[in-house]
Amino acid sequence: MLFKELNLIEPILTALQTEGYTQPTPIQEQSIPTILKGQDLLGCAQTGTGKTAAFAIPMLQLLYKPHANVKGPRAIKALVLTPTRELAIQIEESFKAYGRNLPLKYLVIFGGVGQKAQTDALHRGVDILVATPGRLLDLMGQGFISLKDLEIFVLDEADRMLDMGFIHDVKKVIAKLPAIRQTLFFSATMPGEIQKLANTILKDPTKVEV
Ligand code: AMP
Repeated sequence: MLFKELNLIEPILTALQTEGYTQPTPIQEQSIPTILKGQDLLGCAQTGTGKTAAFAIPMLQLLYKPHANVKGPRAIKALVLTPTRELAIQIEESFKAYGRNLPLKYLVIFGGVGQKAQTDALHRGVDILVATPGRLLDLMGQGFISLKDLEIFVLDEADRMLDMGFIHDVKKVIAKLPAIRQTLFFSATMPGEIQKLANTILKDPTKVEV
């Protein structure tokens, strides 16, 4: 199968060409049509399978509104929660690469660094926010981030969130999200607590395993 067969819009296909991608990986082939339909997804996949592009590509397409007034204030439309700074940076770079031909704005936030550059960027407007849980809660608590217009929520590496002791923070973030949204849940393994969380936050999800 080719990316061309997945009903992707031209600006995204061109960006994928620039990246040198021609064929979707198995998780991409399975996830992209489901996500484009607006359905929830439960993906069992490790890093290295192409899982980032599996959610980033269809999210870009869903959030790209060609006739939207991009001069008005932007509200955060999508949030990706991931456990580490390294993953967060990689994910934001993926959005930038696949979304290079789209007028969307991306931002990554994580702890361990000053917050000024992050809050300045938030003021300038963001469509897709990639975050680690602690810094996100911190900036939400200070009133720098509103998620009331959120349409898509991605929980990346859910099992590692548990291993690293972030699951409580993750649940706090989830409690603040709009109830009506699309949720994409990724985990390499499915321990009981992660399965339980998936069951509570996903609505009739399509399961994808690679
Ligand atoms: P990930 O599993 O998201 O960490 O991706 C693993 C690596 O595969 C990344 O370096 C991507 O740039 C690369 N990649 C993802 N999708 C494709 C694809 N369809 N064709 C070629 N490389 C890809």
